[in-house]
Amino acid sequence: MKIHNTLTQQLEELIPLEGNRVRIYTCGPTVYNFAHIGNFRAYIFEDLLRRAIKRFGYELTQVMNLTDVDDKTIAGALKAGVPLNTFTATFKSAFFDDLKTLNIEPAEHYPAATDHIPAMIGMIQSLLDKKHAYQSDDGSIYFSVASFPSYGKLAHLDMAGMRPGARVQHDEYEKENVADFALWKAWDEKDGAVAWDAPWGRGRPGWHIECSAMATQYLGESFDLHTGGVDNIFPHHEDEIAQSESASGKPYVRYWMHCAHLVVDGRKMSKSLGNFYTLRDILSRGFTGRETRYVLMAGHYRQSLNFSFDALTAARSALQRLDEFQDRLVGVAKNANIEQSTLNVQHSTGSNSHPSLDVRCSMLTVECSNSLLLPDWADAARVKFDAGLADDLNISESLAALFDMVHAGNRAMDAKALKGEQAAAVRSLLASFDLVLGVLEKPREEIPDGALKLLELRQEARKAKNWAESDRVRDELAAQGWLIQDTPQGAKLKRK
Ligand SMILES: [Zn+2]
Repeated sequence: MKIHNTLTQQLEELIPLEGNRVRIYTCGPTVYNFAHIGNFRAYIFEDLLRRAIKRFGYELTQVMNLTDVDDKTIAGALKAGVPLNTFTATFKSAFFDDLKTLNIEPAEHYPAATDHIPAMIGMIQSLLDKKHAYQSDDGSIYFSVASFPSYGKLAHLDMAGMRPGARVQHDEYEKENVADFALWKAWDEKDGAVAWDAPWGRGRPGWHIECSAMATQYLGESFDLHTGGVDNIFPHHEDEIAQSESASGKPYVRYWMHCAHLVVDGRKMSKSLGNFYTLRDILSRGFTGRETRYVLMAGHYRQSLNFSFDALTAARSALQRLDEFQDRLVGVAKNANIEQSTLNVQHSTGSNSHPSLDVRCSMLTVECSNSLLLPDWADAARVKFDAGLADDLNISESLAALFDMVHAGNRAMDAKALKGEQAAAVRSLLASFDLVLGVLEKPREEIPDGALKLLELRQEARKAKNWAESDRVRDELAAQGWLIQDTPQGAKLKRK
């Protein structure tokens, strides 16, 4: 699998540093607000990357941090007049709800910064000991950029214009203001009750050291892959490299991947332009998590993505086409009395069911055993789908392969030229594609007949305006583990 490395600006083959396991660190949300769709573009890119890496047979450890103490969270808690952890708890839990809605696979670890202050203090102490850091008059600790000659290698900065001795206290700053940055901020009134004791005095960590310390704790001093949005390259990731490599004396990260900006209707998303959307805003307009996921996934991650409600509507029809194709394959396979067990592959349903590696392996075995049955057009789609993913996540090529397969498959079924076992094999392949894409609904035929009967009863009750009966049936379905979703295409059942 080839990926574009921001550090070298080259496409490179992904080769894990140790064995078959890829270790990934992903900058997670700053929990001071609901995440917006620009944030989710990055998290969906990382989810696609994660699923593609697994598809190609690697094991994986992904860490996504939660920034729950920094300039923004402290300012937010102060404004709301509540303790910092009360303030961030709301947004942490909203974030995990949003991940489920978007069918983003959970990372292996979600460390929160406030739970890892001792690791940060340890790393700062080591930077002080090695003279890469110093204390300023107000008691804050700064990283000395001049002590790290390769500073600027990730953002490809020209360091000639740097003013020695200049310092910047804020977590975020522009490239023009390259300067010594804060590792530890001495307490002042703006911090309220937010402070920890360190050997050099009371205060709180800077944003950049949080990620360096947590990445090292969970993934080691050197690991494979670090991702984020292009906004993170400077200063955040540049500063992470400087701190981590100065503290450990080892290369920090082998590959860096960054996804481009999201624009809305061709313009930068901003509250003042009225085009600023959280996931909740989109759901409230009647669109679903999987439609949003599809739009955010369908453009190449290194190209700016233009988000629009037209794109969501187009996603709705594309997904409907996929659902119908899947239902049709299941129908053809069923009519030919194909054993359900050969069809029984794990699905991403848009809920919190996530395929485990074990299921994936057994699924791929099903795919392998079925590949002899695949018609030529499906086998060609399989090759093209994987070639796209392996080419720096060229999702457009993979989706084109998928829709070529849908087109050819529908034609074959129209002509009654697809045998039952072939339909079963194609459906297995489709399900294996969906382990990467994560957008398919569960086929209707897999919902037990009893539940479908109840759904019909409920529709009849509603037609007759018998709300008590409709509610009773809804509760009975809920007791069996089914939720009713009213969609423009009619009522559907979804696993709770
Ligand atoms: Zn970070």
